[in-house]
Amino acid sequence: MIKADLHVHTVLSPCGDIEMTPAFIIAKAKEFGLGIIGITDHNSTLQCAEIKRIGDKEGVFVLCGAEITTKEEVHVLAFVDGQENLEKLQVYLTDHLPKIPNNVGFFGYQLVVNEKEEIIKEEEYLLISAIDQSIEQIERFVHSLGGIFIPAHIDKRQNSVLSQLGFLPPGLKADALELTKNADTDTFMLQNSYLKKYNIIKSSDAHFPGDFGEVYTKLNIDTPSFNAIKEALAINKLPI
Ligand SMILES: [Zn+2]
Ligand SMILES: [Zn+2]
Repeated sequence: MIKADLHVHTVLSPCGDIEMTPAFIIAKAKEFGLGIIGITDHNSTLQCAEIKRIGDKEGVFVLCGAEITTKEEVHVLAFVDGQENLEKLQVYLTDHLPKIPNNVGFFGYQLVVNEKEEIIKEEEYLLISAIDQSIEQIERFVHSLGGIFIPAHIDKRQNSVLSQLGFLPPGLKADALELTKNADTDTFMLQNSYLKKYNIIKSSDAHFPGDFGEVYTKLNIDTPSFNAIKEALAINKLPI
C-alpha cells in the first residue's frame, strides 16, 4: 500500500500559498510518507514538470495534471502520462481558458518557480475562470490522451458535479470520485447509492503548508507508475 494525495495546489494557483513551491511540496510529501502526489493547479499544468523532476530524485512519484473548471463550474482532476500528453493537455487548457487578466492584489500570485525558488514565469491570465468546455468534453479529451479523470470534491456545496448538475451524468467515465477530507464516506454512499460502482478517493486539496499529511488514499501498488495508479483506481472499495 502506498499513500497517495492526488490533489495538491502550488504557488501557480492564485489561491495557493506562496510557500507551496516544488521543493517544499516534495519535502512535505517525504515528511508525511506520501509515495504519490498529484499536482493539480487550477487550469494549468505548468508547474508539474519541475515538481516531477525533483520528485524523481527524491523518491516521490508525481502524477502530472490539473484541476480543471468546466463550463458548468464543476472542478475535475485530470492526469496524463508523459511530457507529450502533458503538453497536449496544456495547449487544450490555454486554448479554452478565457483571456481575463489576473488581478494579483485580489486573487493572488500565479507563479511558476524552479527548485531554487526562482520565478520562471508569471501566468498572466486568471486561472480560476471556467474554461469553455463541458464536463463531458473534458472527460473525452482526457481519456483520448489515455488520462485519468476524477470529478473533484463531489460532496462540496460549490464547484462540484453534484452542486452544479445535481447528479453524476450517467455516461460520464470517471476513473474515481473524490470526496472532501471531512466527508463521511459511508453516509455519503448511503445517500448516493447510484455512485457505489465508483472508487472513492480522499485528498488534501492542499493550498497551504498546514494542509498536508492529514488526508490521503492508500493505493494497492508495489511500484508507482501512471498505469499502476490507473489500475489501482479501477479496483473498487479502496481503504480510505
Ligand atoms: Zn476545487
Ligand atoms: Zn483544488
